[in-house]
Amino acid sequence: MAAPHLELVNVSKQYADTPAVRGVNLGVNEGAYVCILGPSGCGKSTLLRMVAGHETVSDGDIVLAGQNITTLNPAQRGTAMMFQSYALFPHLSVRDNVAFPLRMRGVDQADRLTQADDMLERVQLGSLSNRFPAQLSGGQQQRVALARAMITTPRVLLLDEPLSALDPFLRVQIRSELRQLQRDLGITFVHVTHSQDEALALADQVVVMNDGEIQQSSTAFDVFNKPRSEFVAKFIGGHNVLSLGDRRVSIRSDRMSISRQARDGLFATVVDIEFQGASVLVKSQLDDDVDAVVVQLSDERFFDQPLVVGESVCLMWREEDAHTLAA
Ligand code: ADP
Repeated sequence: MAAPHLELVNVSKQYADTPAVRGVNLGVNEGAYVCILGPSGCGKSTLLRMVAGHETVSDGDIVLAGQNITTLNPAQRGTAMMFQSYALFPHLSVRDNVAFPLRMRGVDQADRLTQADDMLERVQLGSLSNRFPAQLSGGQQQRVALARAMITTPRVLLLDEPLSALDPFLRVQIRSELRQLQRDLGITFVHVTHSQDEALALADQVVVMNDGEIQQSSTAFDVFNKPRSEFVAKFIGGHNVLSLGDRRVSIRSDRMSISRQARDGLFATVVDIEFQGASVLVKSQLDDDVDAVVVQLSDERFFDQPLVVGESVCLMWREEDAHTLAA
């Protein structure tokens, strides 16, 4: 098998008394869309900044396209970074913003403007190239920042929470544009996010981090369907974690069923019902557990025989839907 395009080998970062990243090993294939997902403070941005060269590495190695880049300057690495705040130059036109990295590399004016125009066409901003950043919407500014990051044809594009400044509607729209663009250009993207939806929607490879360590690195499908640990199951959402005898399992909320009749299952009391449009979440409490169990029913199934808070119910699932978690 070919070596990974980007490889982190036992990478750690220690800030004074805070171990921000602890012995991370990660391989990323060329052309992959990778999302680094985890709660605030888990070390995602630190990891990304070490790859970009904006943060020194305390221990370990970073290898990109066969070259050890651990101690290279950001400009020498073949990486480009796109920030949450976009960091556009307010006094430069859209075209000049996008051409700026080429200017820094000494590309002559005619050539860099041609390349900038080409990149602006790709992000559908060709008609706005003479505007200034303040004359653009948030989504448009985001695309300018992306075009500026891509113009140097980096070996890997690093994106730090690139969608978090956008309103929810725009976030979903720009997210699919981002994915489309990444496919068109074939560039490897490493995208840091705290949003489960974003990671599942975008990534070929989802890397779940907690407390400076990787908890799981696998396809979006496997992270959702085969979470390795209780942390991943709970963080990714849409799962119940249950202790069954000596076994700890996760079961998708939409794979559980609920009945008024006493059957072979777990007995619980309905404590809340949340209408979500196409589905309804029924939350129920087991006698001996603190967390409520959430069952996601289609609206059709729920309204066929609506349950009410306070009812006694029996929770059931198929054995093949109970996924065993690592201890
Ligand atoms: P995330 O991006 O997942 O929110 P960060 O990588 O920003 O997390 O931070 C990881 C940990 O390192 C946190 O505990 C944070 O407080 C700490 N940290 C981040 N940057 C610095 C810094 N420059 N100096 C000291 N501690 C830092």
